[in-house]
Amino acid sequence: MNRDSLYIGGRWVPSAAGRTLPVENPATEEIIAHVPAGTAEDVDRAVTAARAAFDDWARTPMAERGAMLGKLHEALSARAGDIARTVGLELGTPLKVAKAVQAGLPLTVLRGYADLAANPAAEESIGHSLITHEPVGVVGAITPWNYPLHQVVAKVAAALAAGCPVVLKPSELTPLVAYLLLDAADEAGLPPGVLNLVPGTGPEVGAAIAAHPDVDMVSFTGSTATGRAVSHAAADRIAKVSLELGGKSANIILAGAELTKAVKVGVGNAFLNSGQTCTAWTRMLVHRSYYAEAVELAAATAEGYRTGDPFDEATRLGPLVSAGQRDRVRGFVERATARRVAGAAAVPEKGYFVAPTVFADVDPGSELAQEEIFGPVLSIIPFADDDEAVRIANNSRYGLAGGVWGDPDRALAVARRMRTGAVDINGAAFNPVAPFGGYKQSGIGRELGSYGMAEFQQTKAIQR
Ligand code: NDP
Repeated sequence: MNRDSLYIGGRWVPSAAGRTLPVENPATEEIIAHVPAGTAEDVDRAVTAARAAFDDWARTPMAERGAMLGKLHEALSARAGDIARTVGLELGTPLKVAKAVQAGLPLTVLRGYADLAANPAAEESIGHSLITHEPVGVVGAITPWNYPLHQVVAKVAAALAAGCPVVLKPSELTPLVAYLLLDAADEAGLPPGVLNLVPGTGPEVGAAIAAHPDVDMVSFTGSTATGRAVSHAAADRIAKVSLELGGKSANIILAGAELTKAVKVGVGNAFLNSGQTCTAWTRMLVHRSYYAEAVELAAATAEGYRTGDPFDEATRLGPLVSAGQRDRVRGFVERATARRVAGAAAVPEKGYFVAPTVFADVDPGSELAQEEIFGPVLSIIPFADDDEAVRIANNSRYGLAGGVWGDPDRALAVARRMRTGAVDINGAAFNPVAPFGGYKQSGIGRELGSYGMAEFQQTKAIQR
């Protein structure tokens, strides 16, 4: 693997400017690697390579693209242990979670796209029109640091399956795991130019991708503020954009729900990956009939989470990704005026740790309940009836995910009223082939499964 290079046109090549960026281990504050700081010139080379690859890749039958993705899956699976360790080092995800989620999930998603493409759906006719789905063109993929391989694979596998070459810019905070993917792509023999890697900063490489005249679609995951900037840049040339942005999801615990399970699973969801999860259920809405009990249980559950070394099997919470992220999260905690019921646990002095924190009696309109904090901070809010629960849940500029606990029919009725892209009833498992994406300022478009692939396709009507 060449962490000192970019991957363009099927080859490891140096960056035009020769500058580098350090990669830090957030648990130890040590610099663990350097990667190239790509430039706009590098982006241009990568887009040119992707454009050159487009016609052949687009014309390759989908089933053959699926077979190629199968080979990529095989090569990446062989690196599963490395993936978990790498994400443990560059992001600080505890090893157990890193194995299951940071390595396991992208491998599942990649396998899913290999299978989807290997068995293409029959073409549809509407009257005398044949409806075809064709690749949208060259895709620029800009990804964040919180699930650094999953977010890359969700874009890359779907785009490649659809027939689109990709120029990828991973987060500058977690670029190392993307090298494992490119290494696997190289080994699997993906045609030159089909997948290109340009690491670097958002303002330089990300902005150059978003504004490049020959990028037909930009697929972005990250903050709403940056998503807005990417959207503006792409709007000038009417390029297609898909955005997976922030969230402030509500977990509604209705009267009559199984309280202990609902609270424990709810806390676990909110604190997954140290709370750095866009779908995190950061607002726990509890029916007044057992509100006090729920607050006590949530506080005790949070206090029981062990924070520390990601490579210690007993660790439940690792550090936050950076000093900046830790300080941002601490700022929210310090400004909060709600009743803090957990958050005093000791955390390691070195590394960017924040104690698992729970606030009760949170005002639904306050900063705590409205802003995406992206740390291990949970807000608990009481409600009187289902209508009030739905009102509070929908009182957000975001709409990405959510949970409802209670009688299944009643929970389904509440789920239908939530203005959000996904809802889990009574802790139902995440489905990696179901459409994933947001309402309101949580984004535009869907990822995963066939809906995710459709984002990278144009629809054509041929009359005959
Ligand atoms: P960003 O949205 O800034 O980062 C996401 C990606 O966008 C990164 O690859 C970043 O590059 C890139 N980027 C940054 N600026 C630009 C730009 N002008 N044009 C194009 N691409 C750009 O998130 P942050 O890392 O700053 O995190 C801040 C907050 O955003 C978090 O605290 C959290 O609330 C939220 N967030 C939400 C995520 C989600 O999945 N919903 C994921 C990440 C963050 P680089 O970082 O390499 O410079």
